[in-house]
Amino acid sequence: KIDISGLRKSFGQLEVLGGVDQRVEAGEVVCVIGPSGSGKSTFLRCVNLLEQPTAGRIVVDGMDLTDPDTDIDAARARIGMVFQQFNLFAHLSVLDNLTVAQRKVLGRDRAKAESVARENLRKVGLEDKAGSMPGRLSGGQQQRAGIARALAMDPDVMLFDEPTSALDPELVGDVLGVMRRLADEGMTMLVVTHEMQFAREVADRVLFMDGGTIVEQGAPADVIGAPQQERTRGFLARVL
Ligand code: ATP
Ligand code: MG
Repeated sequence: KIDISGLRKSFGQLEVLGGVDQRVEAGEVVCVIGPSGSGKSTFLRCVNLLEQPTAGRIVVDGMDLTDPDTDIDAARARIGMVFQQFNLFAHLSVLDNLTVAQRKVLGRDRAKAESVARENLRKVGLEDKAGSMPGRLSGGQQQRAGIARALAMDPDVMLFDEPTSALDPELVGDVLGVMRRLADEGMTMLVVTHEMQFAREVADRVLFMDGGTIVEQGAPADVIGAPQQERTRGFLARVL
């Protein structure tokens, strides 16, 4: 579960997040939609402290990430993140991509790390790619390997920032399918996406962000199907 209160972020004079309050319950899937530059990525990056918030509190499963006494590396290890760009280590095999952080951060031995890695590769349909180098995989396979790598750390929460935006259209479905299964299994997920169909079908709640604040939120059928705010309507008219 994620508790976010009073989250603000400025870059110099530019205020990008103007006070975000959100609670994501355990097992909840929350999709964030909104125009380019509205602060969606910054919001996600603040949640695992890839960006240092200017103000506010972020508490993940009782750990206050914004408390200076919190061990940030330990806290971050419990939050999986998947980006638009796949960010696999190009010089490591798929299997090694999945084991390196397990061993370094969680202290798992090789046998344990490899068995967890293979189990998660199976989950994303890549059990036969363990020995491949990332460059030999399709974009969709690389992204699924990225998801498996995050899952191998046994995260409490998964953050996704437009995980399918860099993919060829025919590869998007496989990645969304993996995310859908993860949601069905009860993973707590915060997903920035342009895939309105996915948001409609999978999200428990949709946040519409504009200008660094959450302008409208609610069930997907309401926010996407029957938006109340003019700005939400304008955005949806452009993307749907
Ligand atoms: P997109 O849909 O295009 O990914 P976004 O909603 O994710 O957009 P952000 O990437 O969060 O938007 O950016 C919000 C604003 O913050 C933009 O005006 C951007 O230029 C600015 N910004 C983001 N990161 C930085 C940074 N490191 N330094 C300065 N400005 C930044
Ligand atoms: Mg972004």
